[in-house]
Amino acid sequence: TKTIVLKNRPKGTPKLSDFEFVTEERTPTLTNGEMRLETVYVSVDPYLRGRMSDAKSYVPPFELNKPIHSGVIAKVIASKNDQFKEGDFVSGMLDWKTTQVSNGDGLLKVDKAKAPLSAYLGILGMTGLTAYLGLTQIGKPVAGETLVVSGAAGAVGSVVGQIGKILGLRVIGIAGTDEKIEMLKTKFGFDAGINYNTTKDMKAAIAEVAPNGVDIYFDNVGGPISDAVLFSINKFARMVICGAISLYNATELPKSLSVQPFLVKNSALMQGFIVSNYAEKFPEAMTQLSEWLAEDKLTYTETVVEGFDKIPTAFIDLFEGKNKGKMIVKI
Ligand code: NDP
Repeated sequence: TKTIVLKNRPKGTPKLSDFEFVTEERTPTLTNGEMRLETVYVSVDPYLRGRMSDAKSYVPPFELNKPIHSGVIAKVIASKNDQFKEGDFVSGMLDWKTTQVSNGDGLLKVDKAKAPLSAYLGILGMTGLTAYLGLTQIGKPVAGETLVVSGAAGAVGSVVGQIGKILGLRVIGIAGTDEKIEMLKTKFGFDAGINYNTTKDMKAAIAEVAPNGVDIYFDNVGGPISDAVLFSINKFARMVICGAISLYNATELPKSLSVQPFLVKNSALMQGFIVSNYAEKFPEAMTQLSEWLAEDKLTYTETVVEGFDKIPTAFIDLFEGKNKGKMIVKI
């Protein structure tokens, strides 16, 4: 069994040397209630960066020299647990290990016949739920309004934009390459896109593509991109603060605008969002997402990296924008 442990708490952008591979020869025997799992797909996510530092957050930090864990799809290869049988596939928070033993706590069976297994880490998993619940619960969309999404070509952002279109919004995406902007418009049906890496005046660019102002801002990135959006918000705008990837590797306090005058002037709402606080709404959200997928109203894209040894690289590449849609490692 190969395991990836956190070797150092990253300073700034994570490096490969912050991770260590450990190999174990021993195969533990199963006791009653346990099963042996073989890892099939591993999700790498920006929020894991937060857990690698020891600052207080909404989930406890990873421990040094202990396995990192994230969303994983695994195959049951032996079972002494009544709920799961050999050949089943499960999804849940599991260690970055090629094989591991579990008692099934917190694991859900996933059905390969209903959707490709990797979809349960993306559109039918945490990022799909985040997109749906963040937009509907805090964004409270009304048909005809204008939605701006940052990190628009990623796992969460690409789904937020599509749901926005289903709900009748004008949708504008902000992402880091021309190829991504093209994908937003042709594959995901966004009305307009802005490449923040080639646009000198973001404030002007947003005003131009949102001539009626911005009613909902779904923020995945924070920093200067989000500052620029503030200049276009409308009266009673809602800003869903889902993530701040541009700040996750920051080593000093960011020099951002003060948001207060923008909020006061526009009676606007800015609210942080953590998907796990909406667990009671997961079944309803899953039903809706599955229905839209089946009706081809929603689609998704994935960047699949192959090999257990590539997990740390795939994680680091999120901060370089190397993914389109959900970043996944296939073991
Ligand atoms: P993504 O698939 O969006 O991958 C990350 C993307 O972020 C990259 O592809 C890159 O795209 C962009 N990015 C990287 N660095 C920067 C930067 N400095 N400035 C602007 N954009 C940058 O990841 P997810 O969809 O999984 O997550 C998106 C956001 O949502 C993250 O902030 C994450 O933490 C948050 N999140 C929050 C949840 C919650 O419950 N609150 C749950 C899940 C995710 P590009 O080429 O466009 O730069």
